[in-house]
Amino acid sequence: MSPILPYGTQWIDDDDIAAVVDVLRNGHLTQGPKIVEFESAIASYVGAKYCLAFGNATEALHAAVKVLDLPEGSNGVTSPNTFVASANCLAYNGFVPKFADIDPKTFNVTASSIQRAIDDRTAVLIPVHFAGQACDMEAIGALARERHLPVIEDAAHAIGSTYSDGSKVGCCRNSAMTIFSFHPVKTMTTGEGGAITTNDPDLYRRLQLARSHGITKDPKALSKNPGPWYYEQQELGYNFRITDMQCALGLSQLSKLDRFRARRKEIIARYNREFAGMAFVVPPYETPGLDSCFHLYVLQVDFAGLGKDRATVMKELSEHGVGTQVLYIPVHTQPWYRKTYGYGLGDCPVAEAYYEKALSIPLFAKMTDSDVDKVVRAVKLVLA
Ligand SMILES: *Cc1c(COP(=O)(O)O)cnc(C)c1O
Repeated sequence: MSPILPYGTQWIDDDDIAAVVDVLRNGHLTQGPKIVEFESAIASYVGAKYCLAFGNATEALHAAVKVLDLPEGSNGVTSPNTFVASANCLAYNGFVPKFADIDPKTFNVTASSIQRAIDDRTAVLIPVHFAGQACDMEAIGALARERHLPVIEDAAHAIGSTYSDGSKVGCCRNSAMTIFSFHPVKTMTTGEGGAITTNDPDLYRRLQLARSHGITKDPKALSKNPGPWYYEQQELGYNFRITDMQCALGLSQLSKLDRFRARRKEIIARYNREFAGMAFVVPPYETPGLDSCFHLYVLQVDFAGLGKDRATVMKELSEHGVGTQVLYIPVHTQPWYRKTYGYGLGDCPVAEAYYEKALSIPLFAKMTDSDVDKVVRAVKLVLA
């Protein structure tokens, strides 16, 4: 039997491997030039002034919230339809995560759902570009400016996507910072890895401190300078660093991102055509005017109508070699969120209804045409 296709995975070629080996043979392993090179390549790809790479996107989110220096007792508003890291970054910093419900078509938070979730203590907004499709950042940015709230975009899914004006996700026109993830299931990978883009020089400087113990050696920033050994810890920071091996891989992957994007689009077009007429399956909605690089392909399945529960469907699809996943269990319904904040079912009914029907099928650039055929056949058989 052929191996089961995962819902997402990396594409590593010989040139990616060679790039990593070259650093191992000749380079700095960490805190070297590949990191800076990767950061400037990401910044220029998305059209932002600055980029800082991190060990993963969870650390990047943690640092992004930290450097905003929000008042004690604040809360932040994010999406329930996301990986837990989008909300945990608030809790790490001692703030309360709150959740704005999602739009039933895009599965993204909207300016109006965020407005309903905001209160006097709200100090930051963290919209998530679910599946790679950008939130309406014009509207969210306008709301944030009116309320004087900084915005951190969680674009872990969305490298290579655009906003409605054609600019790239991560250019930070309507936000203070944007976060990317380079985990292997995401569109491009560094193994583990993440990045923050920003146009604000002060945030950039503070993020550098947060990433490396709060320590600086910059002569202009030191309170005194007795000699070449001298450094100062000026804040309480962390070790959130990525390595040069990872950034060499990231540079090599970034050079192929537009190819990955094109292949994902081909696969999605085929899926959309094939699944359009199915009785119990709704293919994902694409917002007109956006050029999205989808990270996930999420079907909404009417399991009740079909007469099979989700666990049965997942088992049957895996027997046909097709792996699936459910993304996401609404964060506010997780046991830790229930016990810590008293959240529960009913708080975000649209996200909860979405979750009941969600099923992600394989989508990754390395899929061959025969892999795609296999998925199409299995979906048509099992979900009809
Ligand atoms: C993957 C992911 C993260 C965390 O990324 P890591 O690099 O694994 O830490 C954060 N937010 C979202 C929406 C994600 O999908």
